[in-house]
Amino acid sequence: MPTNRHLDRRSLLKGTVGLGLAATWPIGGASLARAQFRAFPFSLGVASGEPSPDGFVIWTRLAPEPLVPLGGMTTLAAEVTWEIAEDPGMSRVIRTGTATARIELAHSVHVEIGGLEPARDYFYRFRAGGADSAIGRARTLPRPDAQPAELKFGVAGCQAWEGGFFTTWRRIAEENFDFLFHYGDYIYEYRPITVDRENRPLPRTMPADFRACYTLTEYRRRYALYKGDPDLQAAHASCPFLPSFDDHEVANNWADDNDPFGGPVEAFLFRRATAFQAWYEHMPVRRRMMPRGPDVIAYRSFRFGTLANMAVLDTRQFRTKQPCSNGFKADCGDADEPGRTMLGETQERWLADVLQTERATWQVLAQQVLFSPLNWRSFPWLPGMQGEVRRLDAWDGASAARKRVLATLRGAGAANPIVLSGDAHVDLALEIKDDWSNPTSPCVGVEFLTTSASSGGDGTAAMANADAIYADNPQLKFIGNRRGYTRHVVTPQRWRADLRCVERISTPGAPVATAKSFVVEAGRPGLVVA
Ligand code: FE
Ligand code: CA
Repeated sequence: MPTNRHLDRRSLLKGTVGLGLAATWPIGGASLARAQFRAFPFSLGVASGEPSPDGFVIWTRLAPEPLVPLGGMTTLAAEVTWEIAEDPGMSRVIRTGTATARIELAHSVHVEIGGLEPARDYFYRFRAGGADSAIGRARTLPRPDAQPAELKFGVAGCQAWEGGFFTTWRRIAEENFDFLFHYGDYIYEYRPITVDRENRPLPRTMPADFRACYTLTEYRRRYALYKGDPDLQAAHASCPFLPSFDDHEVANNWADDNDPFGGPVEAFLFRRATAFQAWYEHMPVRRRMMPRGPDVIAYRSFRFGTLANMAVLDTRQFRTKQPCSNGFKADCGDADEPGRTMLGETQERWLADVLQTERATWQVLAQQVLFSPLNWRSFPWLPGMQGEVRRLDAWDGASAARKRVLATLRGAGAANPIVLSGDAHVDLALEIKDDWSNPTSPCVGVEFLTTSASSGGDGTAAMANADAIYADNPQLKFIGNRRGYTRHVVTPQRWRADLRCVERISTPGAPVATAKSFVVEAGRPGLVVA
């Protein structure tokens, strides 16, 4: 259990600065901070991420007073000790070391662990100022040539803190996933609000002194508010994450270097750099994903033996600006302009390369926004819309880019493509067609769009206008309007997706249930109700 043992001054060695248990823990140099914290320094929990067959990243951030600027730290660096153990009780420690937490990165530490065994659980914790962090569980990937019998992972994202309690994250923590793919909207950058769109009070309200995120301090405080949540901390401690980002880690609906509010590119890029820095500081990602100014390389792939390969995509940083002033629009001809892109040329080439070289039974594209075409005209929040209504912030705003990805999948001989997405704040299960304009065109893959963890409030047991939505969209096999996550259970023969929904998030502790399950048989693309 976490403890907060204040440093005993008498135990300090003269001329040096010690940590709480100076007798057994390394002693830092004179530039390190006096490891005295006014409160428990691991208030934001621990996390692991970016698994490989021989390791993963472990993360924490020292923040004794998480919501104040600097997190309650001074400008001095502080030493953090870490331990890796084979058992959850941390009795068989196999690796230990120290990392330096520095003000430049908000006193976060990202330790890349290597040299471990494949496909097994490990446990980790940190110590600083005599305090022990919570214990986290991580898990390495199988060897590239291994033939795993099963893979069980989660997908979640869109977690507006004020939208409700993080019960989704508590239920994820209970799953013991191999890993979790986060599709983005980890934070929302908006100014504090106290009521929802229908003027009802929100379940949680941010501190009154919070501002819309533009400065590094405000982005950091936003992450600190979210990561202070015990349910989210439990989810991070339960399994490694594969983080990605969508728009709200920076600004609503941003695209490439375009400020969604029309400000100058140069100014927006400063905001993007600031937002990326705070994102990096709070995510368990590798050093190679450290931003360089406004740029970060966040696309990469993970291989689960011969069973699956997952390409995590970045659909924000290199995309063409949304056509027709964005939003939900009918008759936006510009959306079909051939030069439009969602990934950019370099990432498209990288994806083609990954699909050619990383052959596996299941080819997974893990990304942020709806990939399949969808006519939104009958959605209850778009009253009075007619025709083919497209969401232009999703792949419907760049249909040529989608065609290129489908051609790449075909060219690589990908027999079982699975696209994962988020952003829409509903559950969607869709069949991907080779030629969307031809109703008899064969199904070439499936898409599971995971609902929000908390954005949008409780939702409803049944989606309003569902019959009309299905009639408009024969490729749509399910729509759900609850909050939750998706559990994917993958074997060499079949892929099963369980759409997990929490009953409500306006009060804490609600139960979770499977709203719908689909199965895809390997070699037979298409959704079968389980
Ligand atoms: Fe969202
Ligand atoms: Ca989004």
